[in-house]
Amino acid sequence: MAPAPFAATTAPHIGGRRKLLTDQSKNSIAAAENYVPDVRHSRLGAEFYDPVKPADFPRLDLRFRNDRAAAEIGLEGLSNDEWLSHFGRFEALPDNLPTPLALRYHGHQFRVYNPDLGDGRGFLFAQMRDRSGRLMDLGTKGSGTTPWSRSGDGRLTLKGGVREVLATEMLEALGVNTSRSLSLIETGESLVRGDEPSPTRSSVLVRLNHSHVRIGTFQRFLFLEDHENLRRLLDYSIAEYWPDATGPADFLSRVVGAVARLGAQWFAAGFVHGVLNTDNITITGESFDYGPWRFLPVLDPNFTAAYFDHQGLYAFGRQPDALYWNLARLGECLIPLSDVSELQPVLETFPARFDEALSVVTLGRLGLKRAEGDPERDHRLVSLFYGALRQSKAGFERAFIDMTGGAMETRLSKSPLADLYTGDVWQAAIAALREREPVEGVREAVESSSFPAEPQTMLVEEVEEIWRGIAEDDDWTAFNSKIDAVRAYGRELGRTRPPKVKC
Ligand code: AMP
Ligand code: MG
Repeated sequence: MAPAPFAATTAPHIGGRRKLLTDQSKNSIAAAENYVPDVRHSRLGAEFYDPVKPADFPRLDLRFRNDRAAAEIGLEGLSNDEWLSHFGRFEALPDNLPTPLALRYHGHQFRVYNPDLGDGRGFLFAQMRDRSGRLMDLGTKGSGTTPWSRSGDGRLTLKGGVREVLATEMLEALGVNTSRSLSLIETGESLVRGDEPSPTRSSVLVRLNHSHVRIGTFQRFLFLEDHENLRRLLDYSIAEYWPDATGPADFLSRVVGAVARLGAQWFAAGFVHGVLNTDNITITGESFDYGPWRFLPVLDPNFTAAYFDHQGLYAFGRQPDALYWNLARLGECLIPLSDVSELQPVLETFPARFDEALSVVTLGRLGLKRAEGDPERDHRLVSLFYGALRQSKAGFERAFIDMTGGAMETRLSKSPLADLYTGDVWQAAIAALREREPVEGVREAVESSSFPAEPQTMLVEEVEEIWRGIAEDDDWTAFNSKIDAVRAYGRELGRTRPPKVKC
């Protein structure tokens, strides 16, 4: 059967807020001034996606609704029933995509090219503007099979969904540029997986992303030698995501900068993504698609998240290299539209931009001022700090909390790691931290009673414990209270970060 004819039926609304007054808006979205649908992806043409049908799930139990994220796109007023119909049954949102679209892409997986990828268990469900006018996607995970499912069932395990929610909440608290989990609904099916005790419970997740255009989306058209659509994709990516970019090389430069910054944010958050394939990297440098992720207990460059990453290709310390390699693949895709002699030097700015971003985000997390006009000095301080963190095996998040505002004696002596900090390994780093002035207001924030005395962590043992409660007793208390605690932590950390520094 031919797929349902697809077209965005209503003209997209650009700029300005408006109230939805159409007949379509029979639910509370009608009252939402901040809901600004703006379907753009479908204009790229039929070569970019396949219209698909969502799965018909036997049961829908709402497990997580993210009203904080929903408020940014005007959807926080939905009743729970409306929420289930849009994010469990995928009834179209008003003036939005009438049919979900499975997106087409290829990618390098563990450095091997795979032309057999694409949205195999997800689709693009809707596009809209957020409060700051950014084009946002609602994408799914576990919403049913598509032409790209291969032998997969198109489903997401409940544990996988729980893990993605916990990862995104923690990363957001730490100021990392991440997709958000908007909704998690349990779907009442039994799944069989090799990496979870099976049968296991099922779920469907909706995420809020700033773009689903991946490096692999570009790679597909290079592979197909379809330079016309490659050009369309570039034009779309520039117009919607990097409107100031002046051409292919400048576009590459923006992506290199955003991805370098993301790598630095992961570093300063002690985060290991686990699967840095080119289909998991978007051209906005927003982190997404969380499978076997882990946070570091202590700084260890060899720490590897995915059990199937036998060579440690995507280990913590190799993430910057993995990103650099992926960006080279994006650069290749731009050769037919530009010139390698223009692209190569842009690509090669990555290491310096990663180092610079690492200084910015690390000093930002520590609430310390930069050394004006002396990036080398910042780089030395940051290296000393991470060097001590690695050698001493101090708790990663604990050390950041203890040293925020500049390694004050009064705070270090109260830490459970006090003895470690007085030892040899930390001496040079602590002396250098003390020379550095805190950003205005940080000292007061750190000394106030609300500043966390204890770090919030999201280590694998904690995640397993949260999951145990759900799996054994269907007890969601630990999951919900962890999210509350992480959000409170994020609010406090936000007070010590200089404006504009996210991590
Ligand atoms: P990921 O490793 O999650 O980025 O997925 C890699 C590819 O496998 C993507 O094309 C996914 O859509 C697809 N995929 C992963 N799990 C499933 C599944 N259970 N059913 C169908 N496709 C899947
Ligand atoms: Mg993926």
